[in-house]
This record gives sequence, structure tokens and C-alpha cells, in this order.
Amino acid sequence: MTPPTQNHKDSTSLEESFTKIEQSSVLDSNSKTPPTCNRDVLQYTPLDEIPIGVKKLKDTFHKSQKTHSIQYRLNQLRNVYFKIKDNIDNITESLEKDFHRAPSETQNLEVVVGLNEIVHTMSSLHKWTKPEPVSGLPLALSTNPIYIERIPVGVVLIISPFNYPFLLSFSAIIGAIAAGNVVVFKPSELAPNFANLFSKLLQEALDDDIFYVIHGGVDETTKALEQKYDKIMYTGNNFVGTIIAKKAAETLTPVILELGGKSPAFVISDVKDKDIPTIARRIVWGRFVNAGQTCVAVDYVLVHDSIHDKLVAAIKKVIEEEFYPNLKDSSESYTHLIHDRAFDNLSTIIKTSKGKLITGGETNKSSRFISPTVIDNVDWNDSTMKQEIFGPILPILTYSNLQSALEDVISHHDTPLAQYIFTGGSANRHSNAQINSIVTAIRSGATMINDVILHVGLVNAPFGGIGSSGYGNYHGIYSFRAFSHERTTFEQKLWNDVALKARYPPYTEKKDKLFQTSQTAYGGNVWFGRTGDVKVGGPGSIFSAFYGFIGIGKLISDFIAAV
Ligand code: NAD
Repeated sequence: MTPPTQNHKDSTSLEESFTKIEQSSVLDSNSKTPPTCNRDVLQYTPLDEIPIGVKKLKDTFHKSQKTHSIQYRLNQLRNVYFKIKDNIDNITESLEKDFHRAPSETQNLEVVVGLNEIVHTMSSLHKWTKPEPVSGLPLALSTNPIYIERIPVGVVLIISPFNYPFLLSFSAIIGAIAAGNVVVFKPSELAPNFANLFSKLLQEALDDDIFYVIHGGVDETTKALEQKYDKIMYTGNNFVGTIIAKKAAETLTPVILELGGKSPAFVISDVKDKDIPTIARRIVWGRFVNAGQTCVAVDYVLVHDSIHDKLVAAIKKVIEEEFYPNLKDSSESYTHLIHDRAFDNLSTIIKTSKGKLITGGETNKSSRFISPTVIDNVDWNDSTMKQEIFGPILPILTYSNLQSALEDVISHHDTPLAQYIFTGGSANRHSNAQINSIVTAIRSGATMINDVILHVGLVNAPFGGIGSSGYGNYHGIYSFRAFSHERTTFEQKLWNDVALKARYPPYTEKKDKLFQTSQTAYGGNVWFGRTGDVKVGGPGSIFSAFYGFIGIGKLISDFIAAV
């Protein structure tokens, strides 16, 4: 068997594919200018330093083994906690410089959530690292210590995007360190002030032999991907995600992909008039926070035709009168776009849409400002519906038949990262048939009923996509598990061979019988027949106790017969 090897020749083709992707992406087709970073602000890592930096971490992991200590991990996390807590204003300011990020959005949606998660991780790590006893053991092994250990995977590469550059990096990094790994971190070069500051803070807080930062763009990421890791986590767009997964496959490196997609918001027919203003507020916030550059943003609305007119009027009112009255591009409550290419692409989407402009459409290229823009009466072929918008544009589609609306979602933009459903009836799928139809038909990374986005801030719920929105998940214990290997560990004694030797040759009928009885639950009896429904709740306690007892009796008699 040939071991997997690094194919260095392929680094050129990787670069070529990056370039091709840059050119062929629909997002890029309107502009030939690739997004750039101010390299006076962010010094890119020299390419020849990258293998050395990664190797240093590898050596720490294998030789010093210090990250195996829970005490060590906790102390490192403590250093990170205080470093961030003491620099909240600097972090906020860096993102204001990068893309006019509203200070409240940085603090409320990123830093507070991240600090909450690190505290939760530190308070729970002793429980998460405890070996978990294995249940359902065969009778012959029921007294053995058999358990699942969660061991560090080793060297982890984390590649992050610009849009929530603090939370999306922080959550992954603390999960990887909590699980006992060493971390190579590649922040997005598109938020250079932030990348510079955040890396510096983490480098000051963490030991330099367990944490290494790579700054840069395509060349540096390509070089980084030529090194061998034990796990790679990529958050960003689907095109680059595909390339990362292909490159990782060459060395059989497991990958977590946190990607994007078009997340719909359904407003279904049972909505009451009194609820419409609240629904409009939540949809508007879910679309225009961070100027729409949110992976789980409401990408489009699908509203039942009986609600349509009132909802559109309410959305317009919320934008123009409540959230953004007299909005200027200098407003501290409204974020701008990350780069000129995004600005140009989104401006083109607005200009070429065949829908009806309800509000917005104002742009300022010099500050990359696009006002909250709502476009009504769009269809599935509209410019707004071709791909994830990732900007401050909200298209509205109307449906009259839920079933055909669901078929349209599945055929155009299946497996979104999130789906949102607004109802005036019960919020539970078991008592609301419409919700049940939607959540059964559409597989999504997450589902929220009557709200948006908040699930991302849950410190202990799995966050991740399905299908085209990615695979793997993280946050809280799920990050810890994502960066651990679950190792089955089996402690056996040497003195008990007399009870276990039925497996050894020469095989006899009696030994086979004993071996099979020792591996068979309930003495070989089952609680389900060959036809009819299988009881959903399992065998029941009387069956379990009775046939469990029978099984022990059989084992004793087979044992006596075999020895
Ligand atoms: P980005 O451009 O900042 O890229 C993300 C990372 O990929 C960066 O570190 C960047 O350097 C690297 N990268 C980008 N282009 C590359 C290339 N050609 N070669 C090598 N590396 C490259 O961010 P983005 O990808 O524009 O982010 C937006 C997308 O990410 C959206 O689709 C959004 O939905 C998705 N996203 C998903 C999540 C999630 O949790 N699922 C979170 C945030 C963003």
C-alpha cells in the first residue's frame, strides 16, 4: 500500500484553480478587480517561513506533549479571556476601520458571544474531558472498564472569513485549544486592521509553540495548505471551500466546512395582522445587520399571498421610520461593504433586478455604502435569486401554494445554512401542519421559528451546515468534539482467560455456543415480530429484565458445558 503523500506539483494547479474560481464566480463576473488588502496595514507572512512555523507546532505536539494537560489548556484559555476582555474597544475600532462596522454589532454579536463561549468552555472542560463509559456491553465484558477517551487530533489549521472575523475565529480557536491541539490560524486578509490586532493579541496570550499565525491571501493560503495537518476548518465561500476539501483529500486530512447559502424566511398563511410589525422587524434585522454580510442572514422572504401587502408595507416602515430614519453613510448603526468588488456586484444585482424597488437603492462607491434595499415581486430567475446575496438587499417572493413553494426552494437553493419560519399559530411542528411540512421538506443547518440568527450565539448547540452549506459543526462541546478524536479504550485482565477462551481454536460446537451466547442480548429473544409495527419505545422494562435474566442463565449453562 502506498502511503498518502504531499503532491507539491499540485500547488500550481491549486493556485490556477483559485484564479479560475475568482474569474468564474458569478459574484466576480461584474468586476475584474479582485478584493485586495492594504498590505501596509497587514504584513503578509513570507512563504518560506510557513513550513517552519507549522513544523514548530508539530514538534510541540509530539515532543513536549504539554497540550495534553487540562491544567495547561485552562491556563492558556484564561490568558486569552483576559487579553480579549482588556481590548474590546481596540477590536471594535479595528473593524470600524476595516468596513465601517457598527460598533454595537462588533460588541453585541461577536465579542460578548465569544467571551461567553470561552467562559462556558472553561467551566465545562473537566466534564468534557472525562472518559465516557461504554454502555450496551456484552455480558462477558460487562465488568471491564471500557470507555471513550476524547484525545486531541494534533495540528489544526483554521481559515477564517472577514464578515464576523472575531467570533468565527475565536470560537474555533478556543475549541481547538480546549481539546488539546496546537493551532495554525489564517485570518481573512480582507479585514487587515482586525487581523493584525487579533493575531497580535492571541500571540501575546498564547504560548508561541502552540499557536502560529499566517497572514496573506491566495499564495500564503496555498503554501499553508501544502503542509500536513490533522484537521482543517474552513469558513467562507463555497468555491474556495471546494478547493480546500480537494487539497485536504490528497493527504486524507479531515475537514470542517462552514459555508454559505441562501437562507429563506417563510411567512405563512396563519400569521395575524397584529404580529406583522414584529415579524417585519425581525426580518429587517436578520437581513441588514452587518449590511447583510452574515452567513445566516435572511437571504429572501417567501410570503403567503394573503399576507404579502401588509408585510411589505411593514418592512418598508421598519426600515424608513424605525431602524434607519435619515440614514447616512456616516451612521454608526449601519455597516458598509468589505471591498469594491462586493459593492460593484451588489450594485449590479440591484440595477438588473426585474422586481419592484420598495425602498433603498442608494449607493456611495467611495465609502462602499448601499442603503437597505427591498425588492418585491421577484421570481426565481431574478438577479437577486441567482446565488447568496451577502449584502443589504432583500428580495420578496410571493407564494399561494406551500407545497409548490417548497419544491421551488429545493430545486433552486436546497440545504440552506438556516431556515426561518414566521407563524401566528403554534411554533411547534407537531401542532402546526405548515411548519411540519416546511421542516420535513427542507434540510437546513438550523431552523428558527419566529426569529432569526440568534441560534448562532448559543454556546452549546451545534452550529454548522448540511449539503451545500457545509459539513461538521462546532460551538461549545461541539467544538471540543470536532477537534477531538473519540478513542475507544478497553482495559482487559490477564487472569480471566478461563472465561474468555471459547474464542480460541480448536473450535468446538460447545465453545461456539458459549461464545455466541456471550455476545447475544436477551438470550437471543426479541420484542418485535416478523410483521406489524415495531414498538417505537424499545423493548420495555419487563421484557428487558425477564430476558436479561434468561440470558445470564443460558450463559452459565453454556459455560459449564464448555469447560
Ligand atoms: P473571505 O474572502 O474573507 O475568505 C475566507 C477565507 O478564505 C480567508 O481567510 C481568505 O484568505 C481565504 N480565501 C479566500 N479566497 C481565497 C482564495 N482564492 N484562495 C485561498 N484562500 C482564499 O470570506 P468569504 O469567503 O467572502 O466569506 C463569505 C462567505 O462565507 C459567504 O458565502 C458566507 O455565507 C460564508 N460564511 C459562512 C459562515 C458559516 O459559519 N457557515 C460564516 C461566515 C461566512
